[in-house]
Amino acid sequence: KLERKIKLINRTLTNIRVNHTHQVTTEIVKTKPSKIVIETLRVTNMLKNKHLSKAISEQSFYRFISFIEYKCKLYGIELERVPTLYPSSKKCSHCGAIKKDLKLSDRIYHCECCGLTIDRDYNASLNLANYKIS
Ligand SMILES: [Zn+2]
Repeated sequence: KLERKIKLINRTLTNIRVNHTHQVTTEIVKTKPSKIVIETLRVTNMLKNKHLSKAISEQSFYRFISFIEYKCKLYGIELERVPTLYPSSKKCSHCGAIKKDLKLSDRIYHCECCGLTIDRDYNASLNLANYKIS
């Protein structure tokens, strides 16, 4: 009886996550961007990181990417994939310098070369947006 209850709770959680991923990906494509650029993340490598694995598998990166893929096709949005080794986080979006000692806990990106101080994820998103240009 308890096993059935646990299964039901897990199914409910999965449904909530799938629904949330649908809502977020729909919200993104409905902003009608000319293109969406995503990193080709090596999820299997990231799952080996004890601290990240639970959060990553629960957020279901694969599901997110597959939803984004088919919704881009549906809405005629270009989807560009950036190779895994592209240093989107470590690169300064202003001068192009590479910060080799960037830790995951560093939430603010500070460039020693040009002095740029910017949110880490925003810096990475600028680098991804300008991927073809650089
Ligand atoms: Zn810089």
